[in-house]
Amino acid sequence: MNTILDIYKIGRGPSSSHTMAVKSIVLDFIKKHPNADRFVARAGGSLALTGLGHKTDFIMQQVFEESFKFTEQSGKVILDKTYQDIENPCPLEMTALYEGSQDVKVVYFSIGGGDFAKKGQEVPAVQFEYDSFAKLQSNLNKHIKDPSKLVSKEEFEHIKKAWQTMQFCIKQGLTKTGVLDGGLNYMRQAKDRYSKKDYLSAFAYAVAEENASAETDIVTCPTCGACGILPAILYYQKLYNQLDDSQIYRALIVAGLIAEIVKMVMPTSGAAYGCQAEVGVACAMSAGALAWISGGNIAQIEAAASIALEDCLGMTCDPVLGLVQVPCIDRNALKANSIMNYVNYAMFNMTNRVRHFDKTLLAMKETGRDMNERYRETSTGGLAEQYLKDEKEFFIENPYS
Ligand code: SF4
Repeated sequence: MNTILDIYKIGRGPSSSHTMAVKSIVLDFIKKHPNADRFVARAGGSLALTGLGHKTDFIMQQVFEESFKFTEQSGKVILDKTYQDIENPCPLEMTALYEGSQDVKVVYFSIGGGDFAKKGQEVPAVQFEYDSFAKLQSNLNKHIKDPSKLVSKEEFEHIKKAWQTMQFCIKQGLTKTGVLDGGLNYMRQAKDRYSKKDYLSAFAYAVAEENASAETDIVTCPTCGACGILPAILYYQKLYNQLDDSQIYRALIVAGLIAEIVKMVMPTSGAAYGCQAEVGVACAMSAGALAWISGGNIAQIEAAASIALEDCLGMTCDPVLGLVQVPCIDRNALKANSIMNYVNYAMFNMTNRVRHFDKTLLAMKETGRDMNERYRETSTGGLAEQYLKDEKEFFIENPYS
């Protein structure tokens, strides 16, 4: 059974599916084949198409180099854009080569939010306690004043660590200026937004920019690409509404339980279901958490999470140059600014309160299934395609640097 630890993974971005999970896969395979002479990691699908921008090749090479520092073993990395697997958009074929005996080949899938599975694996790769809001409802309702009763001591300790990591990341991001690597000439915004007293945006930019640069550990909530929204909301509440840390831990539990439900229904993966499954879910988590902070009852928490998800239905994933920068970073800040509206609608719009999170979630899943793969983290459609058409116009020297 997975726990809230699996929702809030702590580590380096820029992508939970393209770097975090890939790192875990390569480590898992090396560990299972300690006596192999050589290894080959062949990434396909979205991992190959956006791999350079998402640092997929870099992280695989790094794992090989670190693992084989004191051995004669070696590893080769391939981003193979022709390699597709009909079962999953993010396949990673791992091969262990042995001198004089048979090679071993295993296909893994990166399934979103830093999770992975093996092709052919029978049990569901992620298995949480709650698979619908309807099921969570009575338990959360019973402990609405103190949701910490719904998690173990270990989970609670992890939540504390996650909150420390989130705050550190915001503080780091607020100190930095300059252009992010990757070729887009993206200028960091966080410090500037802070100086202009646009604090909520500044906090979201700070985390999303730290994630894009992979310079500081972040917390998946539910993914790396969408990691700026929830910390921004909570840090703003701490600083400007005097919310103490013990309440923030409980808000993180509410948000985490909402993410658990989502993950039981569908992966939080832009490559599988578009950005609605990443930023959309981050909005649902944040709106649910803020509704709880605002004293909302269980129906209002559900309505807030549901309205947030509704507003993100159909949101595509088309990162320019395969980087987790455009549209990802602005989107974190813009959506952080929408959370209060979602919550206000849920708390005060008493005449129209028919909201079912489970139904909205199923709608999101179906929408994602119908989405053309050009808009599911392949960087072949949408913004990614348009920017490439006007390459000369966009990839000029940054006029503000
Ligand atoms: S567009 Fe959304 S899903 Fe795609 S990489 Fe950016 S944040 Fe992730």
